[in-house]
Amino acid sequence: MFKKILIANRGEIAVRIHRTCREMGISTVAVHSEADASALHVKLATESVCIGGNAAKDSYLNIPAILSAAEVTDAEAIHPGYGFLSENSKFAEITGKLGFTFIGPKPEHIVAMGDKITAIQTVKKYGLPTVPGSDGVLDDVEQAVEVAERIGYPVIVKATSGGGGKGMKVAHSTQALRQAFHIAMSEAQANFGDNRVYLEKFLEQPRHVEVQVLCDSHGNVSILGERDCSLQRRHQKIIEETPSPAVTDPMREKLFEQVARVCQGMGYLGAGTFEFLYEKGEFYFIEMNTRLQVEHPVTEMVTGIDLVAEQIRIAFGEKLRYPIHSVTPRGHSIECRINAEDPEKFYPSPGKVTEYFAPGGPGVRVDSCLYPGYSVPPYYDPTVGKLIVHGATREECVARLKRALEEFVVGGIKTNIPLHRKLVATNAFLKGEYTIHSLEHYLQTGRL
Ligand code: ADP
Repeated sequence: MFKKILIANRGEIAVRIHRTCREMGISTVAVHSEADASALHVKLATESVCIGGNAAKDSYLNIPAILSAAEVTDAEAIHPGYGFLSENSKFAEITGKLGFTFIGPKPEHIVAMGDKITAIQTVKKYGLPTVPGSDGVLDDVEQAVEVAERIGYPVIVKATSGGGGKGMKVAHSTQALRQAFHIAMSEAQANFGDNRVYLEKFLEQPRHVEVQVLCDSHGNVSILGERDCSLQRRHQKIIEETPSPAVTDPMREKLFEQVARVCQGMGYLGAGTFEFLYEKGEFYFIEMNTRLQVEHPVTEMVTGIDLVAEQIRIAFGEKLRYPIHSVTPRGHSIECRINAEDPEKFYPSPGKVTEYFAPGGPGVRVDSCLYPGYSVPPYYDPTVGKLIVHGATREECVARLKRALEEFVVGGIKTNIPLHRKLVATNAFLKGEYTIHSLEHYLQTGRL
């Protein structure tokens, strides 16, 4: 097994990866920006290296600095976490060329799935259903109008290189589409340096359901269930749960078989997530993430499998210990993302954490980078932690979640904990009846 792993990330995910490494007897190297010198991931790591200034491009996206840190500390492998360089195929490739192991898929899979159109075309080859749409890059606005008229409004214009919920514009009419097309293209250029866009039918009542996979280098595939991530604001997930309250066993079985076929066909390696929209009994593939997801702990809670440990074992060349169909999830799990932001207006709320008390007790897990006295820097993503709970049934899980949210204290900065408390008390949430549009609707009307 590896003796030392460099964690090329920060925040709660760097802490989470460190924890598994230590349980496996592996030393860790933390990298950090100047502002993160006293961050929890730095304090916990076996050693740490400052890799640059506060802007992500100077530190957590600074490939030469990260690889130099791996070199000087004699790290053997690099775990990229999520975000930052986790889906950067060049980083994965250079890491491998320099003799380090990249804990993730092969660079060619990152390339194929990083481009959403290629991803859609790849999975279609293996029979996965996709959302009706342009089937490729739109050349111009006239083509967009033509496709929209064929499939019917509303439609959504999406950036081929999009991510993080950015670069998507909905249009309900030809006039709106003409505008949306140009706005989406310029936003895509500004955010991703790539102005290519495509078009999909905008589904009006779907749920977001995704499938977790693990694949080893010996051709074995394991499907670790689904997650329902429908509660979103601005296309960003806020609450996730498994199993999905909307998916039945026969549907699940068929979906998992289709996903396994794609993994086997691609010769995929490592952890990955296939994302779908689910509406009226049908699944439509939208994209694949070739990395660990923020919401991976709910899968860990019901399967008892440590996904980071499996990623590390797979990268080391070991065989999957969980062959397909061998994993039976137990109970129910829900995660609330804890963001340092105003719970009503959603502006970021960096600053000093004066008080911190994380809930505990049966079935409660908190993955967080907070501690009393820590200053949340203003430079990065507002997600500072996750509250994850497990229960024998969804009912028990929700009761536990409510109780844990009541206990959670974060003082000095604003967080979205008050919003979570309100959301989990709604009737719609209790019944598990919500779609990807419910949270936005709730914010406008007070009803989920
Ligand atoms: P990103 O890579 O930015 O996360 P995705 O393609 O995964 O983008 O989409 C993110 C979210 O946007 C989805 O979970 C869903 O809420 C919404 N979305 C994407 N495509 C559609 C669509 N065709 N119809 C309705 N909503 C969509």
